[in-house]
Amino acid sequence: MNISNKSLFKNKCFVNGEWINSANNSSIDVINPATLKSIGKVPDCGTKETHEAIKKAYESWKNWKEKTALERSILLKKWNDLILANQEDLAQIMTIEQGKPISESRAEIVYGASFVEWFAEECKRVYGDIIPDRFKDKRTVVIKQPIGVVGAITPWNFPSSMITRKCAPALAVGCPVIIKPAPQTPFSALALASLAEKAGFPKGVINILTGDAEKIGKELCSNSLVRKISFTGSTEVGKILLKQSAPTVKKVSLELGGHAPFIAFEDCDIDEAVTGAIQSKFRNTGQTCVCANRIFIHEKIYEIFIKKFTEEVSKIKVGNGLEENVTAGPLIDNLAVEKVKDHIQDAIKKGSKIAIGGKPHDLGGNFYEPTILYDVSIKAKITNEETFGPVAPIYKFSSEKEVIEMANNSEYGLASYFFSRDIGRIWRVSEALEYGIVGVNTGLPSKAEIPFGGMKQSGLGREGSKYGLEDFLEIKYINMAGI
Ligand code: NAP
Repeated sequence: MNISNKSLFKNKCFVNGEWINSANNSSIDVINPATLKSIGKVPDCGTKETHEAIKKAYESWKNWKEKTALERSILLKKWNDLILANQEDLAQIMTIEQGKPISESRAEIVYGASFVEWFAEECKRVYGDIIPDRFKDKRTVVIKQPIGVVGAITPWNFPSSMITRKCAPALAVGCPVIIKPAPQTPFSALALASLAEKAGFPKGVINILTGDAEKIGKELCSNSLVRKISFTGSTEVGKILLKQSAPTVKKVSLELGGHAPFIAFEDCDIDEAVTGAIQSKFRNTGQTCVCANRIFIHEKIYEIFIKKFTEEVSKIKVGNGLEENVTAGPLIDNLAVEKVKDHIQDAIKKGSKIAIGGKPHDLGGNFYEPTILYDVSIKAKITNEETFGPVAPIYKFSSEKEVIEMANNSEYGLASYFFSRDIGRIWRVSEALEYGIVGVNTGLPSKAEIPFGGMKQSGLGREGSKYGLEDFLEIKYINMAGI
C-alpha cells in the first residue's frame, strides 16, 4: 500500500484508548473490490467486547460532558487538522478497501473533515431558552445537555464521512461514541480513530469495534447505558435497530435507503441537467443513497437529453480507482453486481431499451458498464427498488402534475432533483416533492451545513447543520419558584 504514514493502517479495534484484538483472537478478512485480493484482517468482535466498550464509554462520559464547549471544540479542530494533513493517505486507504476513484476518495476526506470543523464551531452555540412564566414568582429556563453514550453503525459507501457526520456532533456536545463500521471498509474508520488518538481525545470517548454486526448491534441497542443509536444503511436493517431499541426507549436516528427522482423539465438548461444527472447517478459507481434512481425527462427534450447523456456516459472511464484517470470504480461485491444484472434483465423483459452499457465490464470481477435504459416501464423492479449501481433508468413525462405524482410514488423520501429555469415552477415543485432534500439545478446538494436526511422510509432525524446537534441533546426544563 502506497501510504507514507504507516501508523494510519491499524488492524486492531480502539477501545478505551487502547488497540485491542477480539476476545478470542478471531478476525475477518477485508477484500479490495477492484483486485478481489485481501488487504488485511480486522478483529471479529461481538457481544463481550461491545459490553466492555459501552461500560468504558459510559465511565468516560462524566468528564467529557463536564468539559466546556470550547475545550471540546479545540480537540475537534486538532482532529480536523490531522485528517486534512493526512488526506492523501486516508484517500489511498479508502480507495483500496471501497473501490471509488482516488479523486472521489480525496473529496470524501475533505467532506468528512468538514463535519468535524463545522461541529467544532457549532457546539459553541448550543443555546437554551428563558420562557416568560405565567406566574409572578416563577422563572422558566430551558437548557440542553448531552444525551449520553452513542452507538453509531455505518455503511461502506462513504467509509469516512458517514463516521464523522455522526461522531463530530456527538463528541461536540459531550457524548462518547462507539462506532461499528461496515466490514468492507474498517480501515478508513480505524485510521480516523488513530488520528483522534493523536489529537488527544480522552480515553473512552471514541471507540471503534469491528466484527459481528448482529451481535454488536444487539448489544448497542439493548444495553441501557447507551442512550442513542445513530445508523446509516439500508431501510431493512434500520427497522431491525428501531425494534431492538424499543425496550430501552432509546432515541434513534436513521439515515436509510433512497430512490431519488430526477426531473428535467422542458424549460431547463439541458447541458446543466446532463451534468447533474452524471453527478447524481454515477458518483461512487451509483452506490450512494442520494443517487438519481428514476430519471424523468419531459417529452419535448426526451431524445436530445438521451443523446447528450449517452455521450457523457460514454466518457466514463471504468477501472481500478487508484489509477488517476479512472472515473468509475468497481461495485462493492458480487452481490451488488448480481442486483444490477437482475434489475437490467427485468427492465428489458418489461420493454426497456439500452442506450449504452447493459453488461458486465470486460475487466471482469466487480466491474460493470455504466448503463442507460430508456422507455422504462413503471412496472419494472428498477422503478420501485433502489439499485445501488451504475444504471440510469429514463422515463418520459408530459406534465408537471403527472411527474410530481410519479416522483412521489415511492416509499422512500431522501433526495430528489429537478432542473428548470422557471421560478414559479421551482417553488411549486420544491414544495410538492415529498423528499428531505431537493436539489434544484444541481446534482450535488450535500455539505456539512445542510440538514441531510429523509422522509417516509428513508429515515428519522437529520445529520449536519445546526439540526444535526439536536439528535444528541436532551432538553431540560428548570422551573424556579419563590423568586
Ligand atoms: P446495510 O446492509 O444496512 O449495512 C449498514 C451497516 O449496518 C453495516 O455496518 C452492517 O454491517 C450493519 N448491519 C447489518 N445488519 C445489522 C444488524 N442486524 N444489526 C446491526 N448492524 C447491522 O447497508 P449497506 O449495504 O452497507 O449500505 C447501503 C445502504 O445504505 C443503502 O440502502 C443506502 O441507501 C444506505 N445509505 C443511506 C445513507 C443516508 O444518509 N440516508 C447514506 C449512505 C448509505 P454488516 O455488513 O456486517 O452486516
